[in-house]
Amino acid sequence: MKNPGFDDDDATIVMVRGVAASVLHPQRKTRRTGIFLAGAAVLSLLAIGGAWALFSRPAIIPINTETEAQIDATDPCHIQVSYFAPDPAIVVINFPTLLAQGLTLDRVAALTEKAGLPRNHVLDNAELRAAIASHGDTISSYYYGHDYPAASLAKFFQLAAQENIHLNPQERWLKGLITQLGWLKPGANGAIITLPTAGGPVTPEMRAVILHHEISHGAFFTTPAYRQYAVSFWYSLTAADRAAFTNFLGSQGYDTNNTMLMLNETQAYLIFTRDPRFFNANAVGMTQAEIDQLRAGFIAGMPNFWLTPMANAPLPATAAIPACSASS
Ligand SMILES: [Zn+2]
Repeated sequence: MKNPGFDDDDATIVMVRGVAASVLHPQRKTRRTGIFLAGAAVLSLLAIGGAWALFSRPAIIPINTETEAQIDATDPCHIQVSYFAPDPAIVVINFPTLLAQGLTLDRVAALTEKAGLPRNHVLDNAELRAAIASHGDTISSYYYGHDYPAASLAKFFQLAAQENIHLNPQERWLKGLITQLGWLKPGANGAIITLPTAGGPVTPEMRAVILHHEISHGAFFTTPAYRQYAVSFWYSLTAADRAAFTNFLGSQGYDTNNTMLMLNETQAYLIFTRDPRFFNANAVGMTQAEIDQLRAGFIAGMPNFWLTPMANAPLPATAAIPACSASS
């Protein structure tokens, strides 16, 4: 999800915690002879090997289960990963800052859906910096929330390995998470959606808007009936309406050649982003009455599942006091 038009220039580097490696030093042993002692030595080596395997394995990332209301109410100061309660195939990552989120996912965004960039080449650091700057953005402001299906993440890490791209610590943490979820395997059904903790330019209310928007993307990726519905809605629009949404999304930096991206973002903005700072009728050159009519038509035909009531439900209450006062 694109930021609503302002940048953040804070360059504080925030490291994502989570991966630790330990090194065991083999113990020196007195030289002895005899079958028994040889056997003991073998057992000892096996034990050391086992311990090595144990300690060299990346730390398991804890994942709890949360509803939208729980996520909005907590606003944690640290990175937090949760299965989304209504659909655990959706995994929500809360980042402590926009910068931590950007360091983890901007390179994925560049590969997957940013306009004017290659769809089959992972950018190196210099290329990524140039791509972000060319949009007048910073690492923090490239997106305010991210969403990717498992297959896009698997493709990113596969291409990055083939191209020997040096991933940063945050991206390596993400690879650990995706591996832990089993999403590097072909055919995995899942999606990540992300948001930052409130702070800097992101108010608690904006954080809730970002989450609501991203949840609809999660449903789009994991629920085929909903994805199919969004496709048919797109093609039920007039060519002029499709062009209006495409122009708006192009102005936000999305790749307008990707029709699935266009119609996925259209459902997210039109139905699940009821905040004029992020989306309004004027942004697509329509009247409020026209937008209201499109919304009502979409919602009336939606397949009936957990996302459906969220189209008109008010956003849950936000945390009274943001957990983090740190800027992004
Ligand atoms: Zn979006």
